[in-house]
Amino acid sequence: MKALTYIENGRFEVTDKPMPVVIDPTDAVVRVTMSSICTSDLHIKHGSVPRAVPGVTVGHEMVGVVESVGSAVTSVKPGDRVAVNVETFCGECFFCRNGWVNNCTDPNGGWALGCRIDGGQTEFVRVPQADNELTRIPDGVSDRQALFVGDILATGYWAAKISEISQEDTVLIIGAGPTGLCTLQCVALFNPKRIIVCELDEVRREFVKRHYPDVVVTNPDRCLAEVAGLSEHGSADRVIEVAGADDTFRLAWQAARPNAIVTVVALYDEPQILPLPDMYGKNLTFKTGGVDGCDCEEILQLIADGRIDTTPLITHTFPFSRILEAYDLFENRRDNVIKVAILPD
Ligand SMILES: [Zn+2]
Ligand SMILES: [Zn+2]
Repeated sequence: MKALTYIENGRFEVTDKPMPVVIDPTDAVVRVTMSSICTSDLHIKHGSVPRAVPGVTVGHEMVGVVESVGSAVTSVKPGDRVAVNVETFCGECFFCRNGWVNNCTDPNGGWALGCRIDGGQTEFVRVPQADNELTRIPDGVSDRQALFVGDILATGYWAAKISEISQEDTVLIIGAGPTGLCTLQCVALFNPKRIIVCELDEVRREFVKRHYPDVVVTNPDRCLAEVAGLSEHGSADRVIEVAGADDTFRLAWQAARPNAIVTVVALYDEPQILPLPDMYGKNLTFKTGGVDGCDCEEILQLIADGRIDTTPLITHTFPFSRILEAYDLFENRRDNVIKVAILPD
């Protein structure tokens, strides 16, 4: 079968690989019916994910149909439509029992799929710990609706959940890229008093205005003044930083009122400065990412209930045979792309 493979720093290629099979009793093999490209795939391509193994099939955002399962798998069976979780976790170690599945101590714990073991930009994928990593897609929820459940939507849901949002809060979200847009929808589930989105890119600001008319949209230059003007207590009660740009960490704590929670989801290319003397007396609480992706069932139910819809994020669709073209478009942000769906040929 054809698979998009990480060859070396800077190079992905479509190569031929054998069909995966069940190896461990907890494995499942899934036929990929739709996948997507994530910014993390670009990080692998450009060598900024040291754990990524050359030769691995990339791709960790996908949905599919279960083809076969190991003898210990109980939650899914062949023929089930499933969302695949980006994270592998055992469900039994200290971290898993506390819900911190990102730090699972299993050898494949955390982000393995499409990084350390073969992922989903291909036809079939072997998924370890299938009882934890696969979630049945409810009838009536399409592949397009479920595509982001295991990765960027899980991240947005987790970010909103840990930010302890109340209905009195003004919530600032920094960044309206794909993950920021997922975060926005999940923050809205908590009905805060006001949501403000700060985004540098004009096209993305327009996207937010068009799809979420109740949200206040600002840009990095106006952000501090505008948030202060709209907030009851000086500045934002909750700040969720999803952008990961050069100045956005600073913007995040500056835009937070005293005793606010600042949730940092962003993955930075460079170390960030935490200038404690400047924020002395502000008494901020920082919470930092990666996602504990263990809420896929709840998220799929919210989609089934019509409370989350990420399909507008899919701006482009390509067949697998043109996946390198899709990467070029996504990486260079051509044609106002937000997310790309890849379909089997
Ligand atoms: Zn991702
Ligand atoms: Zn674990």
